[in-house]
Amino acid sequence: MGGNGDLSVMVVEDSAVQRLHALDLLANLGVGKVLEAENGRHALQVLADSERPDILLTDLEMPDMDGVELIRHIAEKHLARALIVVSSRETTILSTVETMAREHGLLVLGIAQKPLSYDNLSLLLGKFRPDEIGRGANEREHAFTLDEIRQAIVEKQLVLHYQPKVTTHSGVMRGVESLVRWQHPVHGLVAPANFIPIAEEGDIIDLMTDWILETALKQLRDWHARGLTISIAVNLSAKSLSTPDLADRVAAVTSRIGIEPKYLLLEITETAVMSDLALSLGTLARLRLKGFGLSIDDFGTGFSSMQQLSRIPFTELKIDRSLVHGASEKPHLHVMLQSTIEMGKKLHLTTVAEGVENPADWQLVRLLGCDVGQGFYVSKPMPGDSLAAWLKQGTQHLRPPRPNVG
Ligand code: C2E
Ligand code: MG
Ligand code: MG
Repeated sequence: MGGNGDLSVMVVEDSAVQRLHALDLLANLGVGKVLEAENGRHALQVLADSERPDILLTDLEMPDMDGVELIRHIAEKHLARALIVVSSRETTILSTVETMAREHGLLVLGIAQKPLSYDNLSLLLGKFRPDEIGRGANEREHAFTLDEIRQAIVEKQLVLHYQPKVTTHSGVMRGVESLVRWQHPVHGLVAPANFIPIAEEGDIIDLMTDWILETALKQLRDWHARGLTISIAVNLSAKSLSTPDLADRVAAVTSRIGIEPKYLLLEITETAVMSDLALSLGTLARLRLKGFGLSIDDFGTGFSSMQQLSRIPFTELKIDRSLVHGASEKPHLHVMLQSTIEMGKKLHLTTVAEGVENPADWQLVRLLGCDVGQGFYVSKPMPGDSLAAWLKQGTQHLRPPRPNVG
């Protein structure tokens, strides 16, 4: 294992035997710098006089200050860049801690069951990518101003990438989701989390949405002209949903570009809908009446009930990555995923699993009867002119294994 020489890791573990075991493994893995502590409070003391480690590797149950409390401190004071939790407790507890750490903005490399093994630790360390840190929603590399973002729209620095949505039973592409990026002259390709929230606060999200709709629909017209009759999904922000003329604007641009409404799907998060229910419901009803598809995005992260959902005219349910990723290994996720798919079916919605990253999760979503899958295992988002080449290269790995005949 090369490449660990620059890594610094702090081990927090109350059992001396297990702490030594971890330090031993780290040495074998070639980790250059290590710190150690026997509980959370001790760790904070050590960190007060040391350089910030890349990775905090911590136990959960420890005297004086436990791992949960420590993780909160670490996240709030930015005392480490990434986290590995080592524990022998049940997966529901570990998942809760994992979610908590993520919510606090920490990069969670993973959870390791005790006893820590060389292979497992090696795998987790390998997930540490310093260049990916800071591009997330929680830690902004660079805070853009509203003027810069407005300028980016005017100077056409925004670009759309497209991620395929593929049927799980046949591997056929149903459509794509359009995802906006900012091709910044200095900062490179900037993720939407770094500028959409600012655009929303500053009331230029409508300007941006209009550009995104127009660009996506033109791309779709191009694909249709070449015989690729797929649909396209565009994300709408909560702010746009509560502008009273949204449905008319969407209808106007769609007809101007010459696309039938049934090929445009609007993705809206459940929290967006609930944030201004009265206005949103009006907009959603009008969009549906005009024949557009409506998709509920990131489902499973908010708190809507089946009853609330059944009152909104959605056509598609997109199950959030947090319920999909790892569901083939984690029984509690499996159960939630299964019941979410069942609920979607009862409401006659097309079910879509987001964030499918590996073959095991892909098999599972198919087995559970989810209609469509999306995620890195299918394809990463790509520029529009790469789609044809991607299709040509084939989606065999997405088809179910052929039954043995004869
Ligand atoms: P979303 O609509 O839930 O989009 C899916 C996000 O998950 C995308 O991130 C996509 O690149 C990422 N993703 C897809 N498959 C995988 C996977 O297998 N693993 C992992 N780890 N991630 C995966 P992206 O492009 O950074 O977009 C983030 C969010 O920003 C979107 O979440 C959406 O809410 C928002 N967004 C993106 N484009 C637009 C837009 O044009 N307008 C608005 N209003 N919001 C947008
Ligand atoms: Mg989406
Ligand atoms: Mg989503």
